[in-house]
Amino acid sequence: MADFKEFGDKACNFAKNVADKANDAVEIQKIKAKIRETRHDIDDIYNSIGRSIYNRYKEDVVVDAEFMYACNNIDEKYDEIAELNDKIDIIKGCMRCSNCQSPVSPGDAYCSKCGAPV
Ligand SMILES: [Zn+2]
Repeated sequence: MADFKEFGDKACNFAKNVADKANDAVEIQKIKAKIRETRHDIDDIYNSIGRSIYNRYKEDVVVDAEFMYACNNIDEKYDEIAELNDKIDIIKGCMRCSNCQSPVSPGDAYCSKCGAPV
């Protein structure tokens, strides 16, 4: 009888441990999700610091030399995006003014924004 009770207690402990482990796993997943969220918040803050340095660079405010390379690199990336958008415009059959980059319609003789010949 004692053996059976002992077995029963062990089975109970085992069942409790499985339930506890499941609860622990759920709790750990919640905490990990909160850690990911907090890391994302930190990344947003880093991003904001970077943007404020880049904005200073664009406003010709002196930035540390160590940031100049990164700011130049960002400018190059914006240029790449502009070139890629131009490719999309060409595929779509859109044209842009060579002077001010405003969209112009095929057949326009002059840019409606700056007046440059198309
Ligand atoms: Zn124009």
